[in-house]
Amino acid sequence: MVPFLDLKKINEPYKNELDRAATDVVESGWYIRGHYGELFERAFADYCGVKYAVGVGNGLDALTLMLRASMELGRLHAGDEILVPSNTYIASVLAISAAGLKPVLVEPAENSYNMDPKRLKDACGARTRGILVVHLYGRLCDMDEICAFANSHGLLVFEDCAQAHGARLGDGRGAGTFGVAAAFSFYPTKNLGALGDAGMVVTNDADIANVVRALGNYGSEQKYVNKFMGVNSRLDEMQASLLLAKLPHLDEWNERRRQVAARYCREIMNAKVILPEMPAIPSEHVWHVFAVRLHDETMRNSLQDYLKSRGIGTLIHYPIPPHLQAAYAGVFSGGYPVAEAMAKTVLSIPMSPVLTDDEVSEVIGAINAF
Ligand SMILES: *Cc1c(COP(=O)(O)O)cnc(C)c1O
Repeated sequence: MVPFLDLKKINEPYKNELDRAATDVVESGWYIRGHYGELFERAFADYCGVKYAVGVGNGLDALTLMLRASMELGRLHAGDEILVPSNTYIASVLAISAAGLKPVLVEPAENSYNMDPKRLKDACGARTRGILVVHLYGRLCDMDEICAFANSHGLLVFEDCAQAHGARLGDGRGAGTFGVAAAFSFYPTKNLGALGDAGMVVTNDADIANVVRALGNYGSEQKYVNKFMGVNSRLDEMQASLLLAKLPHLDEWNERRRQVAARYCREIMNAKVILPEMPAIPSEHVWHVFAVRLHDETMRNSLQDYLKSRGIGTLIHYPIPPHLQAAYAGVFSGGYPVAEAMAKTVLSIPMSPVLTDDEVSEVIGAINAF
């Protein structure tokens, strides 16, 4: 038996720290946007290597509000096109739509599962103003190529870092530092997970930080004075305090994920199973998800059934690409065969910092026996 993800087991070793963190908030008498929120924002900005961090309610809001802030600042305008990968989780695309911008899908490269820089040129049109990169499954996109393209075409770069907390290049530049602003989610299953919903925008731009903070608080910078048509999306003190207690452990968790990924890549030997590519520099990947590919959908489904019969949990990230969702019916005109093929052939096997060596061996043995 190897569950896909055991959240209880992830948080259990830190029960005392988490109890303390929660009690501190209960006793403080202040529950939204206060001392612990500020401490966590400072700590997470420092962790990422950026100047500002603004806590919000969740990852989708972080994405939406960083885009909306750019619009309020006059850097983007309603209807502007934003390039986004065709195989991302729907939230990246929803945020662009919610901000009143137009998502334009760019197919991923098959080896990295990430937005293919070579395809940017064809996707870029007269109304294209930005790129929302998604470091999918925890692997950094090819940021040198993407930023070079953006610079030469006058595009703003935004990052969806919901799966990539702590992923870094060899020179130390990490997820959240490459563009105008970046969005993180602390949904419980993420590499750094709250015990509820939470999200954050990080940026080196003081104006973006200020506008995001106002937008998340009814568009208000000063109580009862509303500068923007904002929303209610704030990081609460309870989640901030819990996240502050967990943050110091993030790097060791990511390191354990890398060990598990290295074993999978070394020891899974089955011609039916295509392994994900290891990046040249290990720190570029934090393995939020370990997704293998099969040669076709039937094979993928039968591996999933086979693993289930042996008590091994799997998931598909993601079974329906955004352009085929009913929510986007009629919106995208192009074909996205790479995203469609991935949706049919990917399978995510257990990956977490609490997998034991025996559990990893069990998964490897089962896949090799398939
Ligand atoms: C989880 C996730 C989000 C959304 O985060 P929430 O906190 O659930 O709103 C956005 N983008 C990606 C790539 C994600 O994995």
